[in-house]
Amino acid sequence: MTRTAAFIGLGIMGGRMARNVLKAGYALRAYNRTAAKAEALRPLGATIAATPCEAARDADAVITMVADPAALAAVLEGPDGAMAGCRPGVLVIDMSTVDPGTSQAMAARALALGLRYLEAPVMGGVSAAEQGTLTIMVGGTAEDFAAAKPLLGTMGKKVLHAGPMGHASVLKLSANLVAALIVTAMNEGLILATKAGLDPALVAEVLAERAPLIERAAPRVLAGDFAARFPLKLSHKDVRLALATGRSLGVPLSALETVAELQTAALAKGLGDQDQIATIQVLEDIAGVRVRTR
Ligand code: NAP
Repeated sequence: MTRTAAFIGLGIMGGRMARNVLKAGYALRAYNRTAAKAEALRPLGATIAATPCEAARDADAVITMVADPAALAAVLEGPDGAMAGCRPGVLVIDMSTVDPGTSQAMAARALALGLRYLEAPVMGGVSAAEQGTLTIMVGGTAEDFAAAKPLLGTMGKKVLHAGPMGHASVLKLSANLVAALIVTAMNEGLILATKAGLDPALVAEVLAERAPLIERAAPRVLAGDFAARFPLKLSHKDVRLALATGRSLGVPLSALETVAELQTAALAKGLGDQDQIATIQVLEDIAGVRVRTR
């Protein structure tokens, strides 16, 4: 039974998820590249490690929650990487959003070292991470899924077995593809009606009926609150990974290509560390109007 977990990657999501693992009574060994974020967990009882390898030592399971495929390789591989510190048979659970090819390659490496591996990307934002109500999609064997379920249950209210390795990443990229399109559609609806002279608050109220995501995001556009909950640079990473996955499977994702272009323009304006809704600022500059509460 897993009682000691290593948690690697304590950013916006990981920091909140790790707190729930601790609260559930697991011993936690924490690592983050920027050490201050790991130190914040020390008063809660976590042991702080200097490297991913050190965090993995004595752990029954190793959780990673980092930005992208390159960050995942940085924390799992090499002499200081977590896989070098794991005991044989330890379950490595990657909860970052990556592409299916990355999950499959990393799982093969883990297997070759005598470890077990699951991909377990999450849906739900900052508040779901905080409340332990994430939807967690798992790819890997049924046996490893069953072994990981109690630990994953401390962070999510829905823990689903998506299928073999790679399927959970595809499912997560599909979900984020939809979110990126909804945000873009919301921004276009807001800018069109505002430019025509309508009150943005009225427009937001009506658009909110189209999707729960708009209901949550539109008030933040109106308030000019672009603080990152889901950073634009990470949304763009997911859009690019979805496009690459589409190309490898021969599936055209033409609407998503347009979203990628708008996001590229926003990144060029230096908005990458703001929230994904910040793409509206590109449209605002073009239209010469601000979508804010009057
Ligand atoms: P974040 O706050 O930017 O955290 C990213 C984490 O990755 C940080 O711990 C960061 O370390 C680490 N990292 C980045 N590059 C690294 C490298 N080269 N080597 C080692 N560590 C590295 O982002 P987040 O929102 O928590 O996202 C984490 C993952 O969850 C991403 O895959 C994201 O797509 C996914 N996700 C996010 C949300 C959301 O709403 N935010 C929702 C679902 C899924 P530092 O602290 O040192 O930078």
